[in-house]
Amino acid sequence: MLDADFFRRWMTATAASVDREAERLTALDSPIGDADHGSNLQRGFTAVAAALEKEAPQTPGAILTLAGRQLISTVGGASGPLYGTLLRRTGKALGDPGEVSEDQFAQALRAGVDAVMTLGGAAPGDKTMIDALVPAVDALGDGFAAARAAAEEGALATTPLQARKGRASYLGERSIGHQDPGATSSALLIAGLAEAAGE
Ligand code: ADP
Ligand code: MG
Ligand code: MG
Repeated sequence: MLDADFFRRWMTATAASVDREAERLTALDSPIGDADHGSNLQRGFTAVAAALEKEAPQTPGAILTLAGRQLISTVGGASGPLYGTLLRRTGKALGDPGEVSEDQFAQALRAGVDAVMTLGGAAPGDKTMIDALVPAVDALGDGFAAARAAAEEGALATTPLQARKGRASYLGERSIGHQDPGATSSALLIAGLAEAAGE
């Protein structure tokens, strides 16, 4: 079972890796974006970690809902509402229990990813965060380490794609040959799950 501490560890592990990788995320957002993805998420996850400490929500659902709300109010840009929706929708799907099974979590995360696709209109292959999140959710039944590997592979596989959503799509064919920053940060988010699980 996954308890509130697991979800807190997930968020703090992600905040730490986003902090470590912020420069790389911003560098990826430079050729096909506006060079702010790392700083956007760094600001967002710093706020998430601070809010979790201050408000100390006690259930998995409440932790993710609070985290999502923080991302929406602090990140801005395209990725803030999208990541905020991902965590809020996942948290809402988890509901009130103090512990959830890995299966329940996998279902909830799928609902979160579906909400991101509805909000942003992106499908797999459009060179967005969806290209890391969908393979991760598909692999989650095989464990957190499998989800992490699938997300990393999905992020790498965005390089040859042409962007069809977001800022990078304005570049048309010139978006080809660059790894998508949002898919890369999504791989960090999923890696945070494996870290929280001690894998
Ligand atoms: P902005 O483009 O507003 O500066 P960020 O740089 O923080 O926002 O985030 C860019 C990332 O957001 C992209 O790399 C992409 O993965 C993701 N993204 C942008 N638009 C969409 C969308 N419509 N659906 C899903 N993800 C998207
Ligand atoms: Mg940007
Ligand atoms: Mg921006």
